[in-house]
Amino acid sequence: MTDGPSYGFDTLQIHAGARPDPATGARQTPIYQSTAFVFRDAEHAAALFNLQEVGYIYSRLTNPTVAVLQERIATLEGGVGAVCCSSGHAAQIMALFPLMRPGTNVVASTRLYGGTVTQFSQTIKRFGWSAKFVDFDDLEAVKAAIDDDTRAVFGEAIANPGGYIMDVRAVADVADAAGVPLIIDNTSATPYLCRPIEHGASLVVHSTTKYLTGNGTVTGGCVVDSGKFDWSASDKFPSLSHPEPAYHGLKFHETFGPLAFTFHGIAIGLRDLGMTMNPQAAHYTLMGIETLSLRMERHIENAVKIAKWLEADDRVDFVTYAGLESSPYFTRVKDVCPRGAGALFTFAVKGGYDACIKLVDSLEIFSHVANLGDTRSLIIHSASTTHRQLSPEQQEAAGAAPNVVRVSIGTEDADDLIADLDRALSAATA
Ligand SMILES: *Cc1c(COP(=O)(O)O)cnc(C)c1O
Repeated sequence: MTDGPSYGFDTLQIHAGARPDPATGARQTPIYQSTAFVFRDAEHAAALFNLQEVGYIYSRLTNPTVAVLQERIATLEGGVGAVCCSSGHAAQIMALFPLMRPGTNVVASTRLYGGTVTQFSQTIKRFGWSAKFVDFDDLEAVKAAIDDDTRAVFGEAIANPGGYIMDVRAVADVADAAGVPLIIDNTSATPYLCRPIEHGASLVVHSTTKYLTGNGTVTGGCVVDSGKFDWSASDKFPSLSHPEPAYHGLKFHETFGPLAFTFHGIAIGLRDLGMTMNPQAAHYTLMGIETLSLRMERHIENAVKIAKWLEADDRVDFVTYAGLESSPYFTRVKDVCPRGAGALFTFAVKGGYDACIKLVDSLEIFSHVANLGDTRSLIIHSASTTHRQLSPEQQEAAGAAPNVVRVSIGTEDADDLIADLDRALSAATA
């Protein structure tokens, strides 16, 4: 399909990046289950390796099925290009890789996916990188944390648990003034609810494992580039602005302009780190993404209904969902995520730790899993699982206190989900 800026989200989620297969006319995007692609001749091969022509060489770098998904996600986010990877965590490393050197740091929100906190506070140290965690509602603290060695600012538009909504525009302005890109993890919001690039973000990362695929079948990730950051404005990003020794001295920004980051991600990131998405995974995610807006509408409708029901229930102490008027983020969410606050929230059960365990074990429709963004409703008691290693104080700070459970509301019948919660709450608090 030709790219028309006039097409709406519902059209783009089905068509962007895809066209009938030129070889067979297949209407659905084929799974190009091939490792390598034949060169027309030696000249064609040389042009591909010189990045003078865009095409397919080897599936660690590029694959036609994955390329459709890349263009689809880039279009939905309003970016110029995207690189898909093997998981959301791979996408985070791929986003930081062109920016960082040993000795540099990323300034990150304290409210992040638990796995990201571990990746940033522990694992990236092996590369000589570090992270400074600050409260992103305290803009002065964000400003103060950015130093000469900072190469990126990182946060989540909707962060769980706790129903936190980031003021993306305000933090983007701080990052911009300091000459560093803002990276937004948009996994929980999806581009249907939030388009971080419109709020000033330079890069967007996704775990496509969650809502974009939507049915809990494959892991994947994606880095989307806005194409708007000026990598040559300072000497902070030599991999993009200076001759890149890992690609025979090519100057990516000078050569590819707004596509510099995307080309670097493929030509060096995927080539040398190899965190590649496979064409089967891309296929499942392409199938899922076709119904993203329809699913998100239902996820939100259900989440609002269930959060309101829980908040009014005597067996529940509190509900943290930005879609409720009681949330401190109720006003902000209308600006950052105008279509709704997502479908992820926590609630506190009277009776504490023991009642939460009983609740989780008594539910029939909700599954007890460490995942989110499935069509199925999911629940987890963080204090006894994902946040088990933390002290009670750390659990409290993370919004994962012993009396709290987190739910990812699915697209089932809301009345069935409420009946399930009602039964299980009775069993848990009896
Ligand atoms: C799941 C998740 C990740 C990690 O993604 P994987 O695909 O599991 O590697 C990162 N950020 C958020 C917000 C997530 O929900």
